[in-house]
Amino acid sequence: MSLPSRDALALDLLAWYRSVRRDLPWRRSRDPYRVWISEVMLQQTTVVAVVPYYRRFLRAFPTAKALASARLEDVLAAWSGLGYYRRARHLHQAARLVVARHRGRFPRTLDAALALPGVGRYTAGAILSIAYSLPLPVVDGNVARVLSRLLLIRKPRSAAGQRRLWNAAAALVTAAPAAPGDLNQALMELGATVCAPKHPACGACPVAHRCAARAADLEEEIPPPPRRRRPVEVRSAVAVVSRGGRFLLVRRRDPSLMQGLWELPAAGPGDSGDGLRLDLGRPVATVRHAITYRRLLISIHPARLLSEPRKGTYRWVARGDLHRVPTSSIVRKVLAAIPQPPV
Ligand code: SF4
Repeated sequence: MSLPSRDALALDLLAWYRSVRRDLPWRRSRDPYRVWISEVMLQQTTVVAVVPYYRRFLRAFPTAKALASARLEDVLAAWSGLGYYRRARHLHQAARLVVARHRGRFPRTLDAALALPGVGRYTAGAILSIAYSLPLPVVDGNVARVLSRLLLIRKPRSAAGQRRLWNAAAALVTAAPAAPGDLNQALMELGATVCAPKHPACGACPVAHRCAARAADLEEEIPPPPRRRRPVEVRSAVAVVSRGGRFLLVRRRDPSLMQGLWELPAAGPGDSGDGLRLDLGRPVATVRHAITYRRLLISIHPARLLSEPRKGTYRWVARGDLHRVPTSSIVRKVLAAIPQPPV
């Protein structure tokens, strides 16, 4: 990219972003903590899904200090349903480090930011450019798509393609020294709202006249679609044991992505996989749930306890109190599928 075209592109992007940007709650403040929370939540999750979580999370943990002093269980409960729970665990650990090393303020340097759990090159660049106006680039999926089309980078996922993308993003952000955060957000916003993966709305694009893929009539071909893992169907069964309007939940102990969350007991004959002795009823419903490439098919069995569970690893929870307990969205889905608690 030549310097004049880089500067002109940056100017067009900034002007467009300032006139059309969506009014999102995290854009009302440049407080680094708020920017940090939003950037972590937005990884792998849509804006629409994030907004209510972002508001609730900040009410519960308004500062890094409040987050650092919270119990992990409460942080996971506030994250319940958002998925990718490792993000919440990292956020909690990182908040403790921010308090211990940086007096509760997100660090101002790239090295210090990258030393925090869960903060990679993208997240660090986004937070530092938006909150502290550092001219650091960001390349996420949206930005990669926009830049690979603008510059006709045919293999953006290759090592060479990645280098070109980061170099181009760095060149652009340098061309907007007064507002690097806005420039980065302009690229993200363009990818999220106009330069869509399929059928980009080039007619509404502020930089269509500078787009090499459009000029070559290749905007639908670049970037090539990612190779997706074939979906795998996974069948399982859960037991719904109720008592006085409350449901029995078991803490997940295996070192999986959902470790530490509370879930419904597995339904097995006699001794369930969770060490409970259950009298299982016939399945009353089936729910579907997708986690990355896995398509879960979960059958729901009403059940009766044949012996009391051991204290500590199980708990009884009323439907209305589920938001206080770290659970995956599967628990809510299953309970929503059974209108009356089975007896
Ligand atoms: Fe994307 Fe089309 Fe704009 Fe090129 S012209 S950046 S393909 S929306």
